[in-house]
Amino acid sequence: MVGDFNLPATERLYYSDSFLKTFSGAVTEVRELVGGNEGPVWQLSLNRTAFYPTSGGQPFDRGQLSASSPDGTPLQIPVEQVEEDEQGTVWHFARKPLAVGTPVQGQIDWGRRFDHMQQHTGQHLLSAAFWQELQVPTVSFHLGEDTSTIDLASAPLTPLSLECVERIANEIIGQDRPVTTRYVSRSEAEAMLTAGHLRKLPDRQGTIRLVDIADFDQNACGGTHLRSTGQIGGLQLRAVEKVSRGVRVEFVCGLRSVRAARTDFDLLRETSNLLSIAAAELPSTVERLLTDGKAHARERQKLREELAVLQAARLAAEEPLENGLRLIERAWKDLDRDYVKLLASRTVIAAPRTAVIFCAEDASPVRVFIARSSDLEFNCGQILREALAHFGLRGGGSADLAQGEVPAEQEEALRASVRDTICRAVAQTRERT
Ligand SMILES: [Zn+2]
Repeated sequence: MVGDFNLPATERLYYSDSFLKTFSGAVTEVRELVGGNEGPVWQLSLNRTAFYPTSGGQPFDRGQLSASSPDGTPLQIPVEQVEEDEQGTVWHFARKPLAVGTPVQGQIDWGRRFDHMQQHTGQHLLSAAFWQELQVPTVSFHLGEDTSTIDLASAPLTPLSLECVERIANEIIGQDRPVTTRYVSRSEAEAMLTAGHLRKLPDRQGTIRLVDIADFDQNACGGTHLRSTGQIGGLQLRAVEKVSRGVRVEFVCGLRSVRAARTDFDLLRETSNLLSIAAAELPSTVERLLTDGKAHARERQKLREELAVLQAARLAAEEPLENGLRLIERAWKDLDRDYVKLLASRTVIAAPRTAVIFCAEDASPVRVFIARSSDLEFNCGQILREALAHFGLRGGGSADLAQGEVPAEQEEALRASVRDTICRAVAQTRERT
């Protein structure tokens, strides 16, 4: 099983027949890859294959290989991945090895392949439409699990020009034009390129495989294609985004296009049902709701401010002045922390010589606020920072308002520590004066 590095290139049956679903061949080489968690992986090369290896933006085929073991037991081996190497050998990744020389029957996962051919042939068509309508070249193509993209060397495109390209592509699909392949020499291809009859030519030397959409596009490509544009089924442009070298256009063809439209429609229907309106009214309704929402938020904030002032006055009135300090300590489970902060700032201006230790217990950890009137001299930020540091916690703020977070089980201890420090600080200032 030692690798033979002079293997002949694998005969690629999909070049001449991209609709070939089954084929027979023989194992020419087997090598073991160091497997991951799922055990060893074997790479099998065959003398001929209909399996498409990842290349040119189109992903590999899946499927299975059928063979007989030496004792005659039938074997079905799933092909999980297919790659080609620089020598032109196609490697089929499997979980079981087969001996060199073993005859195999290959079967490709046709649903997956046909979907890939729809997206890939759709890409030829789309790139050609962008080139012909807007003189914008395609620089790369990626076929993904759900959507595909092409990167265009282009300035940002207007919605109108995108719509125009999409319409033209779908007209060509409706015309069901033949899609054919043929081979030309490198020099012939270069002449075609110069004359503007060929959209793109790779650097590769030797014979060039051309894919022709009748009277619309000719392009060099080694991928798998449909027999006619009608088989693309339909093409839908989805999203456009700016990328470093131009514009990325997301598109879907065939059943992917139907699925995407179905998902969109369901979303629209669900959303419009929620609002009891027709889908066409969604943009104006959402705009109105957003405007209303902002107005409501402003109104709510105004009311919260007014409420905080009233509640602050009541809290200050309830607490007597003792030794030159009105220290108010409260904790709330049902008030949000923004409001508790607002309340702290309003309470210390509601009466002179007032300090607060307020806790918002609406969530864990508890948020602690301390604040003081401007006629008191201690530093809230410093006191809270030092108290929290004692518990290995962090927090702080300005001289007149500070905040920090503490786990519920340490809240009492922290409050006691802050309370003592504040009372001591006020007492010391009174002694001095
Ligand atoms: Zn192609």
